[in-house]
Amino acid sequence: MSSPSFSSASILVGVGVVGAALASGLAFKRRGNRKSSADADVATDFDSAGQSVTISLPLWAVHAMPEYQSRTYRTDEEMMSLAVHLSDRNVAENTGGPFGAAIFERHFSEDGSSHCTLISVGMNRVVPLGNSTLHGETVAIQLAQRKVGSFSLCLDYPDSCTKCEGGGEGSGQSAQKKRQFELFTSCEPCAMCLGATLWSGVSRIVCGATKSDAQAIGFDEGPVFEQSYEHLEKAGIKVTRGVLKDEAAKGENTLVSSCTFFTCSAPANYFVIQTILSFLIND
Ligand SMILES: [Zn+2]
Repeated sequence: MSSPSFSSASILVGVGVVGAALASGLAFKRRGNRKSSADADVATDFDSAGQSVTISLPLWAVHAMPEYQSRTYRTDEEMMSLAVHLSDRNVAENTGGPFGAAIFERHFSEDGSSHCTLISVGMNRVVPLGNSTLHGETVAIQLAQRKVGSFSLCLDYPDSCTKCEGGGEGSGQSAQKKRQFELFTSCEPCAMCLGATLWSGVSRIVCGATKSDAQAIGFDEGPVFEQSYEHLEKAGIKVTRGVLKDEAAKGENTLVSSCTFFTCSAPANYFVIQTILSFLIND
C-alpha cells in the first residue's frame, strides 16, 4: 500500500527461512526487466502468502525526514537529540514504543574536523506492525542498508564524496579507510539490537538512556552484559554511552506513563500507512 503523495516501495527483510529468501530474491531478479507495477504485484503476491515483510515508518516520520536531513549535525548531543525526539514523538503519536534511533554518516574535512549527515531513522514499531524484531535500532539499520544498497555499512569510500571537503583523493576522508556510519539510539540496546549492531557494519554506537532505565519502565533487555560492549569494541565498533542520558530517560518515563499505546489496539491507520522507503532512498 502507499499514500497518494509517495511512491510505494517495500523491502523484503526476511521470509522465515533462508531458502525462501533466496527464492524470493531469485524471483525478483528474474523479473528485473519488468515494470515496477508488475514488481509491486509480485511483492503483493508474496505478502499475501506470508512470504514477505514490509517495514514502515509512521507517516509523521516520513513527513519530517526532509527537515531532519536539512539539519547540521556536528556534536553527539545534536545527533542524540534526534534519537530522543523520535522516541518521544513515537509514543506521543501512538505509533510505537519509547525508543528512537538514527544512523548518520561522518564526513571529514581537510583540517580534521567533521560533520555528519542523516542516513536513516528508526523507532520501535513492534506492536503496530506485529513484528517483535522491529526495534528502533533494527529499523534504522535496515533502512540505512537499503539506502546504501548493501547488506553491510562497512563500505569503502566512493571515488568522490561531495559531502567531504575536496572529495576523493587528498581530502580529509582519505585518512579513513572506510565510510563511517554511526548509530545513535535513545536507549542502550537489547540483546537482539546489540547483535544487529555487531553485524550491521556501523563504525560506532552511541547510547542515551541506560539498560536500567528501560527495565524500570517494564522492558526486558535480555542478556546484555558489559562484555557485550567489550565485544563490540574488539570488533572495531566504538562505543559511547550516556549521551543526553537524563533527557532520554525522562522522556521515556513521562511519555510511557501518560500514553495508552500499550493498552489499546493499534489504530487501523497503522496498516494503511505503509512504507515509503523510496522517499528515504531517493532523497
Ligand atoms: Zn532492541
